[in-house]
Amino acid sequence: MQKIDPQEYQKRLDRLTEILAGIAAHADEVSLRRCPYKNRLDQCTAQFGCRNKRKPQVAGGLPVCAGDDKLDYRPAWETS
Ligand code: SF4
Repeated sequence: MQKIDPQEYQKRLDRLTEILAGIAAHADEVSLRRCPYKNRLDQCTAQFGCRNKRKPQVAGGLPVCAGDDKLDYRPAWETS
């Protein structure tokens, strides 16, 4: 069995931490303006009304989200 070099191991851990920290920072920033109900295909998964919802592109599909991710999406939500 091959021995693990502790310094190489730590170097790789540090690199992974650096990569994941960058991803987390980007997610934090995007989450301030991208609606959490919008999937990667820009479709809406919310079960409530929203002014940004548009007709699905295919029958029976999810509604399209017309939000532009530039404004605060929360005022568009229609809650009782
Ligand atoms: S339509 Fe409204 S609730 Fe749905 S993903 Fe877009 S902003 Fe969010």
